[in-house]
Amino acid sequence: MRLPYNMAMNQREQTRSVKLGSKTLGGSNNILIQSMCSIKTSKVEEVSAQILRCAALGADAMRLSVLDEEDARSFGAIKEKVGDVPLIADIHFRHDFALMALQGGVDAIRINPGNIGDIDKIKQVVEACKARSVPIRIGVNSGSIDKSIYYGKQMITAATLVASAKKHVDILESLGFHDIVLSLKGSDVRQTIEAYRLAAETFPYPLHLGITEAGPKDIGLLRSAAGLAPLLLDGIGDTIRISLSDEPEEEVKACCRLLHDLGLKEDYPTFISCPTCGRTAVNLVPTAKAIQKYLEEHRINKTVAIMGCIVNGPGEARHADLGAAGGNGVWAIFKKGEVIRNVPDELVVEELIKEIDKL
Ligand code: SF4
Repeated sequence: MRLPYNMAMNQREQTRSVKLGSKTLGGSNNILIQSMCSIKTSKVEEVSAQILRCAALGADAMRLSVLDEEDARSFGAIKEKVGDVPLIADIHFRHDFALMALQGGVDAIRINPGNIGDIDKIKQVVEACKARSVPIRIGVNSGSIDKSIYYGKQMITAATLVASAKKHVDILESLGFHDIVLSLKGSDVRQTIEAYRLAAETFPYPLHLGITEAGPKDIGLLRSAAGLAPLLLDGIGDTIRISLSDEPEEEVKACCRLLHDLGLKEDYPTFISCPTCGRTAVNLVPTAKAIQKYLEEHRINKTVAIMGCIVNGPGEARHADLGAAGGNGVWAIFKKGEVIRNVPDELVVEELIKEIDKL
């Protein structure tokens, strides 16, 4: 059932809950943030360091590609280095790689059972997942629709994506397996929204939201926000990834920002800065970027405002815990709308960081 916006903040589509290592996905649990490692999984040291960097920025889980046996056998060593950060193995076709990853302690498998082929092989994966309470994510995207549903000439629609997902779901359900997570990613925003809405009505399982092939940051952020926000505001979605042609750290920050700005994640900085205009007589843009970076990297749960002029700045950012308003080469630092001192342009970042640390 579609929820009105004000209710969706507190009331989400009620899906089944599944365990994802140290976290729980679905039901009324927090929407989990995930990204995907950009380093080959067998490079254990490097990939583990990347997982820990992403977790420090707010990732709840990380997905890793499994291309060969070396990757499939690396999960035990990676788990030892990254502690309780849940890991998801991304596998295509190879049931033996799934079994190896499960032996290494992976927390979820992304595999489409219909692509494994042999039912005995599917059963082996399902039994190994059941024994460890490990969920399976079925990931359908517009570029890899099941051939029995899409013949290459007809238009792919939301219904095609859902029908393709259903084929895989039916296989798992027929084997008594229900710890399922679904994604239906299109690269077209409207089609993806429609597919997820249809999936929310069709299946009781948690949904992983994302727009695939969203592009580099400037395009990808907008495209993902345009696609994900309407769904999240309707109470649809249990975990998200913002796919970008960029580092996974950037994806994690983008997910945190989107959820926070929609009121679905409280523990994140609120950052405000003005767009600048003819009144601006300080170096606002680099100052704003440096302070935003500091707040996000240290995940400081405060409201900070960087405003270009004293005329409008403190008033517009009255509710900020801390702010700075520019004058002629000088900044007034204010707390809760009250100016506490002035600092020159070249020292403002350093002085603001000192004040942020005191908050
Ligand atoms: S806060 Fe001041 S400098 Fe910034 S856009 Fe508004 S009027 Fe211009």
